[in-house]
Amino acid sequence: MKTSIATVSLSGDLEEKLTAIAAAGYDGVEIFENDFLTFDGGPRDVGRMIGDLGLTCVAFQPFRDFEGMPDAERARTFARAERKFDIMEELGTKLMLVCSNVSPASLGGIDRAADDFRELGERAKKRGLTVGFEALAWGRHISDHRDAWEVVRRADHPNIGLILDSYHTIARGVPVDSIRSIPGDRIVLVQIADAPQVDMDLLQLSRHFRCMPGQGDLPLVGFMQALDATGYDGMLSLEIFNDQFRAGSARQVATDGKRGLLHLTDQVSRSTTNPKRRKPTMPARPAGLGVEFIEFAVDEDTADELTALLAGLSFHLAGTHRSKSVELWRQGDVNLVVNTDKEGFAHSSYVVHGPSVCAMALKVSDVAGAIERAEALLVPSFTEAVGPGELKIPAIRGVGGSLIYFVEPQGLLADIWSVDFDLTGATEPSTDGIGLTRVDHLAQSMSYEEMLSALLTYTALLDLDKAPQVDITDPGGLVQSQALQAADGAVRLVLNSSQSAKTQSGRFRSEFFGSGTQHIAFATDNIFETVRRMKAHGLAPLPISDNYYDDVDVRFGLDPALVADLRDHDVLYDRDGDGEYFQIYTRTFADRFFFEIVQRKAYQGFGAANAPVRLAAQARSAPEPTMPRR
Ligand code: MG
Ligand code: MG
Repeated sequence: MKTSIATVSLSGDLEEKLTAIAAAGYDGVEIFENDFLTFDGGPRDVGRMIGDLGLTCVAFQPFRDFEGMPDAERARTFARAERKFDIMEELGTKLMLVCSNVSPASLGGIDRAADDFRELGERAKKRGLTVGFEALAWGRHISDHRDAWEVVRRADHPNIGLILDSYHTIARGVPVDSIRSIPGDRIVLVQIADAPQVDMDLLQLSRHFRCMPGQGDLPLVGFMQALDATGYDGMLSLEIFNDQFRAGSARQVATDGKRGLLHLTDQVSRSTTNPKRRKPTMPARPAGLGVEFIEFAVDEDTADELTALLAGLSFHLAGTHRSKSVELWRQGDVNLVVNTDKEGFAHSSYVVHGPSVCAMALKVSDVAGAIERAEALLVPSFTEAVGPGELKIPAIRGVGGSLIYFVEPQGLLADIWSVDFDLTGATEPSTDGIGLTRVDHLAQSMSYEEMLSALLTYTALLDLDKAPQVDITDPGGLVQSQALQAADGAVRLVLNSSQSAKTQSGRFRSEFFGSGTQHIAFATDNIFETVRRMKAHGLAPLPISDNYYDDVDVRFGLDPALVADLRDHDVLYDRDGDGEYFQIYTRTFADRFFFEIVQRKAYQGFGAANAPVRLAAQARSAPEPTMPRR
């Protein structure tokens, strides 16, 4: 598969864009006319820059309002096209993209349009150029690729071909299977874009919210399967209009796009019935089997504060690292690593972020496969020097520079604890603690652009499904929340982002100097018993307002005894069909992160409806600064 990206997809000036595109490993680039017009240099300079970077110029685009103009304007339209051909010759590209006419002056008529393209084809032929026709979803007379194909078919000229764009086809609801009857050798370019499934004007959605394959909700695999049937094996080119991307890091966005295309073609090669195409180039996505541990980077003072909180939650000190200043705190299947070592990754993370979650370890079905797949998807891996006899746990870079380690149920990486830790002489668990059984989910805060990036990385790498994105009202603004989970719920991640610096998620990022894990939820099988035991240890859950329980009562029509229990224990409640969800929160630790304890009864969500109540309760019980601000 050859890949390309349109310059309009990235931020920066033309040189920055091209450099980022080359660095991400694309084969080609579509030059968007505006990027050329604002460039301080001629078309030959641009062509030379493209060549020097090892790229090819796939197309010059867009040429607008061409077909079906009335006679009075027709000659001028062709003169305009000739001038673009001049530029293309100097630029060194063979393909002009013509998008369907949106001008109120245009007359429509398939044959009239075909005549115009036949004449344009003749002019292009004299120069050895090709013209591709793309139906815009909001074209005046042609807004469907089936009509664009009919124009191309009737133009019947070797220098005229069809351009498909996944966005225009899918967003407009044109059946993708109609692509299967188009001959692949008449398709001159295929543009790929994803988009969120939101009820919005198609033009606005397209101009501002397109996103990389895998970041949105469009059924791109079906589009690609239909394309596969045509035999097309030309460029797949990203054309992503997105305001965030145009304000973000060109390198990051270019890499995300490449990763999205790699993941998409991997999905297609695994689902195709065509044996010739069934050639996956990377191992399958490993299953996420659980969260093995979460690691905190702290100094001595904050370690005391953190371990006091953990002790209050009935975690016990289960072991100490053989060579580093690192403790393992445990309850049920929850392993928390408290790292105060003065060297290594955790320490550098502490120096940058202060007390923080610097790493998590996921148990996956195949660690070697995960690492190989990460490399194929351009996800940076990480290795740290280890002491003699200690385990090297493979890792990749996660959100905000944190690490994601991988362990597996069998083999060397099955028992990391007895190798690296001294588990003798630690305090014995007095009871079964307060009933915490496992990590239910981790919630991470980041910018919207990072959220799209993390969403793609997690789902491309691991077998996680994404839930629909939900908006949460924070007293300081809106928070977008995106959940990812393994089918059986063994791994659950929640990605939160906010444009507003005043939301908890936004404040977290500015005070924390970056993105990262903001809360960790543990699972219990009996929330009320957990709260009772917590209180016996002198730790009360975050207090919830009385009004909330009056509302819960009315909303769900619950047994009064249950409502009274919820109220007495400060437990939040949600329901989803027959599923029930119970949640409590600790106060915020070090003004940065907090713990949640949940009980699920056949419930798949994360209590999004309760988030505003929790956020308001946290704002009310504003944590006293218990440590010096960094
Ligand atoms: Mg397009
Ligand atoms: Mg939560």
